[in-house]
Amino acid sequence: MSKIEILKCNKCSKYTLKKTCDICSSQTLSTKPAKYSPEDPYGRWRLKYKKKHGI
Ligand SMILES: [Zn+2]
Repeated sequence: MSKIEILKCNKCSKYTLKKTCDICSSQTLSTKPAKYSPEDPYGRWRLKYKKKHGI
């Protein structure tokens, strides 16, 4: 069973299976959803907010 990964060009918003975009030849990116990262600036902001308000 071959693993097919759907890739997307962020420039053209086009989906492809190739590592480079057919239209603009830029690198395509995996469409897998990004996992929550503790480095997320919004997450950090919330933590600061929580501390400030004693939650
Ligand atoms: Zn493109």
